[in-house]
Amino acid sequence: MLFRVFPRPEMAKLFSLLADRRIVGPVLRGQDRSGRSLYDFAPITDFAELALDYSTTVYSPKSWFLPYREEVSSFRVTGREWQRKVDMAPGPPTVYFGLHACDINALQKLDKVLLSGGWPMTHYAAKRSQAFIIGVSCLPCEQCFCRSMGTDQAQQGFDLFLTDMGDYYFAEVLSAEAFGLLEQLSAREPNNDEHALYLDWVRQRERAFTCRVDTTDLTKILDLEFQAEVWQKWGAKCFSCGTCASVCPTCYCYGVSENVDLDLQGAHKIRQLHSCNLIDFAEVAGGHNFRPESHTRLKYRYYHKHRGFVEAYEEPLCVGCGRCGKACLAGITVPDVIASVRHEGNRG
Ligand code: SF4
Ligand code: SF4
Repeated sequence: MLFRVFPRPEMAKLFSLLADRRIVGPVLRGQDRSGRSLYDFAPITDFAELALDYSTTVYSPKSWFLPYREEVSSFRVTGREWQRKVDMAPGPPTVYFGLHACDINALQKLDKVLLSGGWPMTHYAAKRSQAFIIGVSCLPCEQCFCRSMGTDQAQQGFDLFLTDMGDYYFAEVLSAEAFGLLEQLSAREPNNDEHALYLDWVRQRERAFTCRVDTTDLTKILDLEFQAEVWQKWGAKCFSCGTCASVCPTCYCYGVSENVDLDLQGAHKIRQLHSCNLIDFAEVAGGHNFRPESHTRLKYRYYHKHRGFVEAYEEPLCVGCGRCGKACLAGITVPDVIASVRHEGNRG
C-alpha cells in the first residue's frame, strides 16, 4: 500500500477526473422522526451533493451489486424457434465514492460467497468488475460495533481510501489507477509529522467506539446455548418482517421464481432477495415449514452470521454496521441479542 496526502480543495478535482463514469455516493435524503439525517447511496453528477461526512446510509451499497429484484434470464418462443436472453446487466463503469470501511468489508464477505466455488453469481460478478471504490474514514456512531467485528478498517477491497485530516486528505492507495489519479492532483508522500498525525487520528477514533460486542468464544457459546430460552424471548418480540435482512450489507439469501407470460410464448426467471426471518423462508415443496416459529428463524439468522459462516470462512457474516438494530421496529439489536445469549446483564 502507498500513502499520499493532497490538499482538501482538490477533492472536487478528484471528483471531476472521475466524471466520465457513473458516480454513486452518499446523499442526504431527509430526516427521520427524531430529526436524524437519512442518507442513501445514489448516482451523483454534482460534487456538492456528495455527503462525505454522512453517519451511515439506511441501505448499504450492496443494493448496487445485488439488487433486491433482478431478472436472471428469459426466453421467448417464435414459431418453432426459441431465443434465450441472459443479460448480466453490469451497468456502466461506476465509481463508488465514499464507502465506509464496514461496507467495503461487507462486499469482501459477499465476494467470498458469490464469486467463489463452482457456481459464481455472474450478475454480481459483472457489477463488481465495473467498480472503482473510494473509501472514506468515518467516526463511530451510537449503534455501530464494527471495531468488535474487526471491520472498522479496510485492508483491501478498495482503490483509494481517504481520511479527512482537516486541511488535507490522507490517502491509502491500492490500485495503479488510483495512483494515476493522484498524480493529476498535487499529491505527495506524507512526511513524518503527517504519518504521526494520521496514527493519532486512528487511535482517537478507536477510543470513540461506545458500542461493543464480545465475540470471545462466541461460536462455542452459540453451540452451548442452542436451546436457551433467551431465543424464545427474542422470537416473541420479532415481527418476522425481514427489514433487518433488507438493510444488511451482508445478507445475500434469495429465491428464484419463474414467471410465464400470459400468451405462453415466453418466461422470465427472477431472483429476489429473501430473509430468513420471513415465515416462508424454510417452507419446502408440500408445504412443510422447517422453521414455523419466529424464534427459530431469528435464531437461524444469528447462527448463520456468527456460527456457520465462521466455520466456513473463519470470520463472521456481520460487519457491525448497526443498520439492522436501527431499522428494527421491535428494537432488536445484535449487541443486545449476543449479550443476552452470553448472559451479560439484563439485556433482552
Ligand atoms: S429482528 Fe426486527 S427487523 Fe428483523 S425480522 Fe424481527 S422485527 Fe423485523
Ligand atoms: S447483521 Fe446488522 S450489524 Fe451485522 S452487518 Fe448486518 S445489518 Fe450490520
